[in-house]
Formats: sequence, structure tokens, C-alpha cells
Amino acid sequence: MLGPTFGHTAASITGLLLIEKLVLEWVFPPWIPLLEDFEARVGKNVAVGIIAVANSAITFWGIGLLFALPPMLGWRRWKIQQDRSLDMALLWRSLPLIAFNFLLQVLIGVPFLLYMLPAASLDWHALPATETLARDITVWLLVEEVCFFYVHRWLHQDKSMYAAVHKLHHTWTAPISIVAIYCHPFEHLVSNILPVLLGPFLCRSHAASFGIFLSVGTVHTLAVHSGYWFCDDNGMHDEHHAKFNVNYGVMGLMDQWYGTYQQLGLF
Ligand SMILES: [Zn+2]
Ligand SMILES: [Zn+2]
Repeated sequence: MLGPTFGHTAASITGLLLIEKLVLEWVFPPWIPLLEDFEARVGKNVAVGIIAVANSAITFWGIGLLFALPPMLGWRRWKIQQDRSLDMALLWRSLPLIAFNFLLQVLIGVPFLLYMLPAASLDWHALPATETLARDITVWLLVEEVCFFYVHRWLHQDKSMYAAVHKLHHTWTAPISIVAIYCHPFEHLVSNILPVLLGPFLCRSHAASFGIFLSVGTVHTLAVHSGYWFCDDNGMHDEHHAKFNVNYGVMGLMDQWYGTYQQLGLF
């Protein structure tokens, strides 16, 4: 029997494909002359680097702080863990590591964008066709699901790794958006950054479609840590923070396979 996680996976692939098509056909093209003008003035790599950093910062800190407003204001409506409130002192103590990990992902992500993808991926007049996008998105999401699941489960099952590394992320048993990257830098590298980069590297994806994937992925991880029902995984990852030994993956496919899938459900 195909469980709800197949539906979640199909919805994720379709949703990301629609967002990619929308941005690549309507939002991005009018900006290409401006981008090329900027590239002519400062050089292609510097221009792409600056835009990538600005895009990452606006997506993570901008949307992250927007998602953090409801817990900061103490809103109960649509809250998943109704009996929990935000610990502001813990949030302040968490900020330096969150900022460090943000810097780490930028320092790895930008050189990857510039040097690990084929040169043609920076050609703004050769954007990927629908079939290429559909193939890339399927590979990106499945590679991330498999890699994130195994690395995350290993960080739990190996007790010394859990104590030394992953316990830090689980300081937050009722998370909020930006604590998505409150974790040991080693975990951020092997569990969050590399599984996201591996798919685009294997597919030799276009930088524009990869950039959209990164932005959507960032919003996704902020949403699933938000602590509210506007997460896009039906509370699956919030339940992982509450219970520790369920829901190690992203979409639930691998958890369903291994019997660790647990769905709260809204009603
Ligand atoms: Zn988490
Ligand atoms: Zn965990």
C-alpha cells in the first residue's frame, strides 16, 4: 500500500516544479539585463556571489524572523505543542551558533555554485527545460531524503555521536524557525549542507534552478521548525523534536520504509 508519504513526496516534487517554472519563466527573465550589467561591472563570480549571499540572507533571516513572530508574541492559535512557550533566554544564547552556521553554509554554498557546477550552468540565456527540471527535482529531493535520513538516524543511534553532536539540536524540544540550523557545525555540514548539494552536483544542474531549490529548501526547514501548523510536513519534524526517535527523514519515505514514521495529524 502506498502510504501518505508517497503523496507528500509527489506533492513536494510537483510543488517545487511549479515554483521553479513560475520563477524561471516570469520572475527571473526581466532581471537578466540588470544582472548582466552588474556582472560586466564587477565580474561574473563576484556578481553571482553577492546575489547568492543576499538571497540567502533575505530568505533565512527575513522569512525566519517572520516565522518567529508568532512564538515571540505568544500566539496559541495553530500552535502544534500547545503546552509549550518560547524560551527567549535560550533563543538569545542560540543566536551566535545560528549565525556561525549561516556563515558556514554561505562559505560552502557560494564556491559550490561557482566552481562545482558546469560553466554552462551560469548561462542565463540557457535556462533548463521542464523535463530537465522534473528530473533534477526528483533526484534532488530523493537524494536529500535518503542522505538526511541515514545521517540523522546515525547521529541518534550512535550514542557517542548523539552526545557529542546531535544533542545540541535537540536542546530545542519545541523549536522555532531559525533554530533549524542551531546544531553542531559538523552536523550542519554532513546532515544539512552536503545532502542538499549532492543532488545538483550529480545532475549538473543550472545555477538558477539550484538557487530556487536552495531558497525553497530554506523556507521548508524554517517552516517545519516553526512550531505551528503552517509547516508543510504536517508536524512531522516537530514530532521528531518532541519524541526524538521518530521521523528522521524529510518527506517520510525512508521513515515509512523503516517503521519510524509517525504522523500527528491536525484532527
Ligand atoms: Zn530539527
Ligand atoms: Zn534528531
